[in-house]
Amino acid sequence: MLERAQLQLRGGRFRWLNEQLYTRSGAAAAKLMVAEEGAFAEYHAGFRAQTAGWARQPLDICITWLARCPAAWEVADFGCGDARLAARAAQRVHSFDLVAASPGVVACDVCGGPGAVPLPDGAVQAAVFCLSLMGTDYGRSLQEARRVLAHRGTLWIAEVRSRFEGTAGGVDAFLQALDRAGFQLKARDESDALFAIFRLQRRDGDAPAMVSWPALKACEYKRR
Ligand code: SAH
Repeated sequence: MLERAQLQLRGGRFRWLNEQLYTRSGAAAAKLMVAEEGAFAEYHAGFRAQTAGWARQPLDICITWLARCPAAWEVADFGCGDARLAARAAQRVHSFDLVAASPGVVACDVCGGPGAVPLPDGAVQAAVFCLSLMGTDYGRSLQEARRVLAHRGTLWIAEVRSRFEGTAGGVDAFLQALDRAGFQLKARDESDALFAIFRLQRRDGDAPAMVSWPALKACEYKRR
C-alpha cells in the first residue's frame, strides 16, 4: 500500500513538472529547476519510466543515424538529459541542458537567445533535439542551433506526434517555420505511431530575425 502510494506521488510530481516545462519559457523552466530541489532527477526518472515502454526509442534512432555520419563531426545535443548521446556516439558531442546532472553536460537555457549555448558560430556539423522542444519559446533554441551549425550542417529533431495534432497547421506549420528560419527539410519519418523524426539542412544566408513559431501542445504522459 505504502509503495503504491509512493509510486502515485512520484507519478503526480513527474506530471506536474512535465506540464511546467511545456507551459513556461525556457528562462522560467531554468528558474524552476534551480528552485525545486531534486526536480531534474525526478523529472528524468519519470521520463525514462514513460519512454521505456515505447517499442522504439528516438534516441536510439539518433545514435544509429550518427553511426553512419563522419566520426570527425562535432555534434550539439540540445536538451541532452542524462547525456546518453555523448556516451554512445563516436563523434564529439557537446551536451546542453537546464541542469548539468551528468559529467560533461553544460548547464544553460538553450532558449536564452543568441549566445545562450556556449559554442562559437558554425562550430558543429549536427544539432540534435531529441524530445527537447519543451519551452513555449522553443523556436529560439532552433534559431540558436542555426547559429552554431556549420555550412550545410544537419538539424535532427525527434518530437512526439501528438504535440502537433489539432494545432493550427499541424506538422506542416512547424516545418514551414523551420523553412523560414533557414532550414531545408531533407527527410521526414512519421512511421512510428508515437514520434516523428525530421532531418533538415542549414541553408546559407541570413536567417530572418523574426520567425513566428506555431504553439505546440504539451506532451501528456499517461498515468501509471
Ligand atoms: N534528449 C534526451 C532528454 C529528453 S527530455 C533524451 O532523448 O533522452 C527533454 C530535456 O530537455 C530535459 O532534460 C529538459 O531539461 C531539457 N530542456 C527543456 N527545456 C530546456 C531549455 N530551455 N534549455 C535546456 N534544456 C532544456
